Amino acid sequence: MADVQRTLVLIKPDAVQRELVGKVVERFERKGLKIVAMKLAHLDEVTLSEHYGHLKEKPFFGDLLKFMMQTPVVAMIWEGIGVIDEVRKIVGSTNPREADAGTIRADMSMNVPSNMVHASDSVEAAQVEIKRFFRDEEVFTYEKLTDRFHFGEGI
Ligand code: UDP
Ligand code: MG
Repeated sequence: MADVQRTLVLIKPDAVQRELVGKVVERFERKGLKIVAMKLAHLDEVTLSEHYGHLKEKPFFGDLLKFMMQTPVVAMIWEGIGVIDEVRKIVGSTNPREADAGTIRADMSMNVPSNMVHASDSVEAAQVEIKRFFRDEEVFTYEKLTDRFHFGEGI
């Protein structure tokens, strides 16, 4: 069986303010990934302190939390073979000025923390982050008729 994974993506407040939600979703859809959950959520300090726990000691931690609480974010789960690495590739590296051309961050942003998108960076992180942002009944399983064109017959 092919390695079908799920990953968590957040569209951050800068992209919401700049009316780029549709453009971000389009990048993942165009790749052929399957959307299995989506909602708006206003994140609180507790959730964000967990989510960005690895950055707690950084001088920008407080500003990052404030930035993430400015507007609701769009939380999504995308599914597909190897989707965790695929989505990170499409998103690009953390600093948009260093990200490869063609990535979301390089093409549409120029700054941190306002680099548009969060995406899980490993299998373990994806599992924890999906649970952090979604209840089981908010996540959908369905057949997408185009899967075999995108992923081959193995899916
Ligand atoms: N960030 C920041 N300043 C920095 C590094 C990171 O404001 O010097 C923010 C930025 O929004 C980044 C988030 O903190 O996306 C999480 O950082 P991480 O290193 O996990 O990068 P990511 O996984 O988002 O690429
Ligand atoms: Mg990260």
